[in-house]
Amino acid sequence: MAALDLILLHPPSLYDFRKRPGIHGPISDVVPSTPIFEMYPIGFASLSEYLERHGLRVRIVNIALKMFKDERFDVERFIRKQKPVAFGIDLHWMAHVQGALALAEIVKCYHPETPVILGGLSATYYHEEILRQYPFIDFVVRGDSTEKPLVQLLHAIKEKGNFGDIPNLTWREGRDGSGEIRVNPLTYVPENLDDIAIDYRHIMRKVLRYVDPTGYQPFIDWYSYPVTAVFTCRGCTYHCKTCGGSSLTFRSMANRQRPAYRDPKMLARDIFNISDHLHGPIMIIGDIFQPGEDYGLAFLQEMKGKPISNHIAFEFFVPPSRRLFEKIAESIPNFNIEISPESHDEEVRRAFGRPYDNKALETMITDAVDLGSKRIDLFFMIGLPKQTYASVLGTVDYCRFLLERFRSYGKLIPFISPLAPFLDPGSMVFEVPEKYGYRLFYRTVEEHRRALLTPSWKYILNYETEWMTRDDIVYSTYEAGKRLNRLKAEFGLIDQKTAESVEMRIEAAVRMMKEIDRIMTLPDPKEREIQLEPTLYGRRSLHAYSMSTVCEKRELEWPTRFIRMNFIKILKTLLMRRKSQFSHE
Ligand code: SF4
Repeated sequence: MAALDLILLHPPSLYDFRKRPGIHGPISDVVPSTPIFEMYPIGFASLSEYLERHGLRVRIVNIALKMFKDERFDVERFIRKQKPVAFGIDLHWMAHVQGALALAEIVKCYHPETPVILGGLSATYYHEEILRQYPFIDFVVRGDSTEKPLVQLLHAIKEKGNFGDIPNLTWREGRDGSGEIRVNPLTYVPENLDDIAIDYRHIMRKVLRYVDPTGYQPFIDWYSYPVTAVFTCRGCTYHCKTCGGSSLTFRSMANRQRPAYRDPKMLARDIFNISDHLHGPIMIIGDIFQPGEDYGLAFLQEMKGKPISNHIAFEFFVPPSRRLFEKIAESIPNFNIEISPESHDEEVRRAFGRPYDNKALETMITDAVDLGSKRIDLFFMIGLPKQTYASVLGTVDYCRFLLERFRSYGKLIPFISPLAPFLDPGSMVFEVPEKYGYRLFYRTVEEHRRALLTPSWKYILNYETEWMTRDDIVYSTYEAGKRLNRLKAEFGLIDQKTAESVEMRIEAAVRMMKEIDRIMTLPDPKEREIQLEPTLYGRRSLHAYSMSTVCEKRELEWPTRFIRMNFIKILKTLLMRRKSQFSHE
């Protein structure tokens, strides 16, 4: 097999999660991955496809998932055996900072001559600090689109070329990496997403090439629940206060003046490609009406030409009109909706940055139900501007009101979870916390890295607000989770046995959080370590206190067919020579 140019490694959030005690918190209950966030960024898939199309050989290895799945998986042994031109590690979300740095250090230890490259939005925000503080990292590729700069960088590494001309790159001068830190201008900011692709056929071929299904597996239950995603854009037109993906943050951090969209016909084609191979649900990331109605309607027109049976999940930033829902219903037989009102309290919602009221939300639900939406997920959040403990519980009361109003529908599913573990660097609140009533505990990379080593998510949280302390955020989360869990049982959204098991987990997590609080007050750090060790031992604590502690993870699952994959089509794709969708190949 030809030598690899790049191995992309996805780290767990906490490298030592198999040994280190800790309660990672309930945030992962409302995403498909476990508390170690083993789901690698969707950008890995587009990078791999783009780089291979440009003549480079790339492999993705989901280290987090391998560690989670196999207690004996030896990361160091695995890394030692690899011999690529360079290693790439994602630091997209700060939750991965400890794992990303630990993994980078291991790589450098076994391969001192091999460059280690970091990318992602958090790496972009902290690029200079990262190169200054962590000598085992050689390059940071900045911005929301790193495909082209990465091709240039890999060629420069291979050909011992000049790094000074590579856009978006932060690097150290001198071949031994001891020189000045250089920050090249962030000028590669593509206007659209038509030259990149999330092509699952590409991933299938790589799985076969490297005989490594776990290395490419997106999250732990993926083979039983093969949910996939397509994306409409990079960037956003909204500016929600705590979001690191808001328009203002993208402008200041990624030099993006306006979002880049994928051509609506290409978006539909992405979905058709998935549907040919997999029968699982497909999530459309980014509101199809964000670029304007014309974009959404062009996409729906394309979808209408080839009705597919997969469940399609739409995410909306604001509730669409009935007329637009009618278009969706005409084009997509199985459509589902997800929307994040954040809070029932319109003042809190507005303060967060969502510009709609409850009437608009309820009208949207009525329309979606009338027009045959298969399921509607509502996501509420804890830790918002102007939100109090009482307001969090008020959100659960509002959920009761909605469940009563739409009782006969039976597919309206509310979720509530904390804004955790970190406020996104670069978000408005992170930049000027006092202005929005926030108090920030950690600002630097090192402070965040250390926070992830603390024993519970209360100490990991990098903020509290004028209206809620860390304790309020933690305990209102469990209380709201408990009340919502009971509501779901009462309205038949989950069975009694599931509800009882979730409630038991919540109670156990609360007891454990309080016990950790007691231990943390001990003055002697050694004694603290000793007492924490048996209380919270690694993997056991992960399962017991950090998983399904505000809701049962399976509640998230959209419907899927019993046979989840089209094995014949997959086989054909694997055997077929690759046919490009790009004309310039
Ligand atoms: S949270 Fe708000 S700002 Fe962030 S991506 Fe969603 S709509 Fe855009």
